[in-house]
Amino acid sequence: MITKPKGTYDLYGKDARIYKYISDVVERYMANYNYDLVRTPIFEASELYHRSVGDTSDIVTKETYDFKDRGDRNITLRPEGTAGIVRSFIENKMYGNRNDTIKLYYLGTMYRYERPQAGRFREFTQFGVEALGSKEEMIDAEVISIGYNILKEMGIEDVTVSINSLGDKESRENYTKALKDYLKPHIKDLCEDCQNRFNTNPLRIIDCKVDKDNEILKNVPKIGDYLSETSKNRFKKVKELLTLLDIDYEINESIVRGLDYYNENVWEYLNKEGLALGGGGRYDTLVSNLDGPETPAVGFAFGIERIINELNNIVSDNDLAKRIDAYILSVNEEEKMHALTLSQDMRLNGLMVETNTNNLSLKSQFKIADTLNATFLVILNSEKLQKGIVTVKDNATKEEIELDEAEVVDWLLGNI
Ligand code: AMP
Repeated sequence: MITKPKGTYDLYGKDARIYKYISDVVERYMANYNYDLVRTPIFEASELYHRSVGDTSDIVTKETYDFKDRGDRNITLRPEGTAGIVRSFIENKMYGNRNDTIKLYYLGTMYRYERPQAGRFREFTQFGVEALGSKEEMIDAEVISIGYNILKEMGIEDVTVSINSLGDKESRENYTKALKDYLKPHIKDLCEDCQNRFNTNPLRIIDCKVDKDNEILKNVPKIGDYLSETSKNRFKKVKELLTLLDIDYEINESIVRGLDYYNENVWEYLNKEGLALGGGGRYDTLVSNLDGPETPAVGFAFGIERIINELNNIVSDNDLAKRIDAYILSVNEEEKMHALTLSQDMRLNGLMVETNTNNLSLKSQFKIADTLNATFLVILNSEKLQKGIVTVKDNATKEEIELDEAEVVDWLLGNI
């Protein structure tokens, strides 16, 4: 038997129904907030991720799926969504002549060669939004609130937005210098990864998962003390707007995020156990770094598997149970042919219908109608069909009526 590759999973049954529910809420909210769907390739030129997510980031150095295609091109399976969206934004000149904010969203699989564990896969799914073209704090507040409100809408009540500011370029340079000065005498006491990060990506040392209880990291200089006046004011305004929108947030100065392109505010959505369901930030230089026009931008991404897992504990099987409007019962050839045409008629008129496609006994058909929670049973019987009559039974009250076959669709539409 061939089994699935390590770090992947099959989506089916209850999880698949939860996935569908999540994507329905996502679609509805994206329409309400006026974000447009974008679909970009699952693989891109490797250079895209080196120049965006960062040459020295953990993702690019350790986690990407890289390969050469048959034309000797360096290809990478996308490890995240923003870089591809930005590439597409530039390549398709989505900035056009418009001055408005361009608001986009995506839902798709991402690939990272990570050590599989609970909530961590090698193929996983992200839903993300990107708002390009505005530096207004209002758009930061909008983007942060979308994620929060969607989680609430799905019934995940206990969510905290954990937020930090990395500041502008000047703030980050000043802070990086102070951080390196502080860490230099202690460098040998840090994990091997952090020793390497000291030169390549010192900010990442702050949120190292290995060294998180190390006293040295507990006493690092605080980024908040190094923010420029502009960044400080910006961060203050964003927080005020979040309060205005009733978003439950807390400041966490150790959030730096694993991707190099972030500046100013960054945040994560944490569940009650402190696990990140999603995260995002502002990335004002990414579009120009990828040869596009100067375009401030902000976005976030959710891990869908982690949300499925949350909802699995909240949503009962009953909430997700299948429900159909009608099950059509038929046994002999003549009845089956009527079932075939009648079911098409019903479905084209918007009814959710199932019928016997597997030569089942009447008893089995009644059982299946029950498992599908059919509201009505449409019982076909040759003798009655010859008179143009079918029996419709309410599957809850068990009341039956006889109807003209031609009237069934209208009757059902009026009684569902
Ligand atoms: P990131 O931008 O890396 O913080 O990812 C955003 C969100 O995607 C995280 O908060 C997780 O919910 C999810 N995520 C990231 N990596 C994985 C993974 N390997 N498996 C499952 N979910 C992931």
